[in-house]
Amino acid sequence: MTGQDFDALFARLSRSAFRARFRLGAKETSYLAARGMDVIRSHAVDFVAQRLAPSEPKNDGKQTPMRGHPVFVAQHATATCCRSCLAKWHGMQEPPTEDIRQDGHRCGAASKKLSFMAPPSIVQPVDVRSASHASP
Ligand SMILES: [Zn+2]
Repeated sequence: MTGQDFDALFARLSRSAFRARFRLGAKETSYLAARGMDVIRSHAVDFVAQRLAPSEPKNDGKQTPMRGHPVFVAQHATATCCRSCLAKWHGMQEPPTEDIRQDGHRCGAASKKLSFMAPPSIVQPVDVRSASHASP
């Protein structure tokens, strides 16, 4: 997914009062600060793999708690919380790809949103590190 696609998606999401009200609380923010964005992004991958990728996800529609983990909050903010929200907001009817790490969209939307929601002091060092890992 390109940056422009994300911009369009986030613009649509910002017009939803429900999606726009999600914010990181003190607990989620300190969890994020303690573990760093790289670890939290890997949690996003794990959650999508475990909760969204199965052909029949357990408790679909209720599998993502409203709070308690920064990724949960970002998933609700980006409508990547359950399969029906993926279908409605992202036009994605099909289950996520088998290799979830290749799935830039579902993990990417939540991760990118997190980098906007998180205090800059948390995001900044990670952006530098992940840039040095970038390989074509
Ligand atoms: Zn949902």
